[in-house]
Amino acid sequence: MAREVYVCEECGGEDIQVAMWVNPNTGESDDWFGSGSCSSTQWCHRCEANCFVTLRAYPEPQDTKEGGS
Ligand SMILES: [Zn+2]
Repeated sequence: MAREVYVCEECGGEDIQVAMWVNPNTGESDDWFGSGSCSSTQWCHRCEANCFVTLRAYPEPQDTKEGGS
């Protein structure tokens, strides 16, 4: 299993924001603006710049249990 998070492609940071469509009546969010294709709607706080956000999968921390067979 892996933990999937969106990160900045530049620095790999998770402290990022994306612009999203939100229904003002329900507060429900829909797709990102130009998801994946337009960096002007994606922001990285660490780079303090527009960035591209990418989905990255991190492996789950391994159990340190020794599985002797
Ligand atoms: Zn960054």
